[in-house]
Amino acid sequence: MIKITLPDGSVREYAKGTSSLQIAQSISEGLARNVLAAKVNGATWDATRGIEQDATLQLLTWNDTLGKETMWHSSAHLMAEALEAIYPGIQFWVGPPLENGFYYDVDLNGQTLAHADFEKIEAKMMELARQNNIYIRKEISKADAISYFGDKGDGYKLDLLERLEDGNITLYSQGNFTDLCRGPHIPNTGFIKAAKILNTAGAYWKGDEKNKMLTRVYGITFPKEKDLKEYLTLLEEAKKRDHRKLGKELELFTFSEKVGMGLPLWLPKGAMLRERLIQFMQKAQTAAGYLPVATPHIAQKELYVCSGHYEKYGKDSFQPIKTPQEGEEFFLKPMNCPHHCEIYKSSPKSYKDLPVRYAEFGTVYRYEQHGELHGLTRVRGFTQDDAHLFVRPDQVKVEFCKVIDLVLHVFNALDFKEYTAQISLRDPENKSKYIGSDENWALAEQAIIESAAEKGLKTVVELGEAAFYGPKLDFMVKDALGRKWQLGTIQVDYNLPERFELEYTGSDNQKHRPVMIHRAPFGSLERFIALLIEHCGGNFPLWLAPDQFAILPISEKYNNYAQNVLNLLSSFGIRGFVDERNEKIGKKIRDNEIKKVPFMLVVGEKEEMENKVAVRAHGKGDIGAYAINDFAAYINELIESDFKQKESRE
Ligand SMILES: [Zn+2]
Ligand SMILES: [Zn+2]
Repeated sequence: MIKITLPDGSVREYAKGTSSLQIAQSISEGLARNVLAAKVNGATWDATRGIEQDATLQLLTWNDTLGKETMWHSSAHLMAEALEAIYPGIQFWVGPPLENGFYYDVDLNGQTLAHADFEKIEAKMMELARQNNIYIRKEISKADAISYFGDKGDGYKLDLLERLEDGNITLYSQGNFTDLCRGPHIPNTGFIKAAKILNTAGAYWKGDEKNKMLTRVYGITFPKEKDLKEYLTLLEEAKKRDHRKLGKELELFTFSEKVGMGLPLWLPKGAMLRERLIQFMQKAQTAAGYLPVATPHIAQKELYVCSGHYEKYGKDSFQPIKTPQEGEEFFLKPMNCPHHCEIYKSSPKSYKDLPVRYAEFGTVYRYEQHGELHGLTRVRGFTQDDAHLFVRPDQVKVEFCKVIDLVLHVFNALDFKEYTAQISLRDPENKSKYIGSDENWALAEQAIIESAAEKGLKTVVELGEAAFYGPKLDFMVKDALGRKWQLGTIQVDYNLPERFELEYTGSDNQKHRPVMIHRAPFGSLERFIALLIEHCGGNFPLWLAPDQFAILPISEKYNNYAQNVLNLLSSFGIRGFVDERNEKIGKKIRDNEIKKVPFMLVVGEKEEMENKVAVRAHGKGDIGAYAINDFAAYINELIESDFKQKESRE
């Protein structure tokens, strides 16, 4: 008999060779129907594989990332089987799972695979899935594997085999398809209830443009048909909300080939939106005791040699700028931290001066390859809402708590309701690879864990995920479409204070090293605004909206009255414009709906006579006539109550 320890700590006994699936069946049939794979002593296994010795066991279902990965990797094999049936003689390179779905790189051997063929492939996949074919694992010697794929004339798999060690090679077969594969796989193809081919793209073999171009076929599968429908709806919605599309429609930002790839240009409405976010953050930071600093966009190479960035990233950065005469070398600033260390050093500090909190909306430049650039989310120049806190070791926890407060303030004001925090600690088995004293690490790690608990954050703790220079906490937010984004990292750093020889005089009159904390709740304004656009679909919270209202005169005759209304409303601190175009009122309404202006104020003869505006709310339609003062009061109340409600949630 073997002892199986389940995640709840309970121990059960089974005969040697019992599989995870059989164990699941012994617990409940319902559970067994959902088991896709298993974690046995920490390794992901086929659920059908027999367990030969005492083990810890975690059953993996669709709700586990590893369960999904196993499902999708198995689906890549299923798609390959379907492709092989439709396109005889094709060959396969690799087919890994992705965050959403999977792909397989295929050598179509001169045949073509067009969008029109997707349905045929999907139908074949489902036909094969319904056969409930078992994924069979077979251990094989390297020599046998080479002769198997050699006989098939499969150069791609032979190439993969070259890198594999004998004694460690497995084949997986389902139905008529056999692949060189480490696994694991789901028990049988019947778990796959819905399949969709998403798209295809060219992909050079091994990513090398000197090699043959293969066809990368992307797909996704689900354990329920309903899940696929939901996913496709989500994809549609994501397309509508794409920040690149909305950024153009709402006139927020643009790119110019002349200026350069990955260098966003902010249009007036976008620049004002940025300004408002900056002011929002500055207000919160001032209240939390931050001090503003400002630093240049370039710095001497020596600064980054000192910080260690040159050694680590120098080759992959924008190359240095050289002076014409003295031969000095400058780098574009890739981060603000080293500058802030030098500011800290500009005057002696005592323990009473700490914590010191320097904040700067610092624009930094990082080289990204062309192919990596994407809208505002991957750019070459961006502005961080950066700050560095220099604290005594005993202040880490208090300061951490305050930074968490600030991050939550941002999430609340911008309506991010779902988030989790990941705490990254050092690997306790391998303490020597980290810089900083044991005592300080213990203190900081405990401070992070305690402050996250005090703030009631949902956390996951990852051992060994800390940077070599300190532990950190990352927030993961879910947007309105359920997609996860990383936002708001808080990072403890023992390295830069050491490299820059930062000091403060303690109460003992001795010199001590401060601890540095890096934090940026938005991360970068560019990426944050991209996320915000997609999260709210361009319908920004009223306080942030580029224009809060548009005044639409029914005809030119009322332009003067419209201007008067605008002036009056502006004097109440709310913002908007008059749509004076010589267009029919219906068209003006439609256009401003597309621009997602929260309120449209229609003015004509009746409104002018009564000194009123007829109000239409975005997405709602007519909400009645308002006196101008009343409308201003209404807007300001909406903004205030919005903030109040959110603060009461905090
Ligand atoms: Zn595989
Ligand atoms: Zn920093």
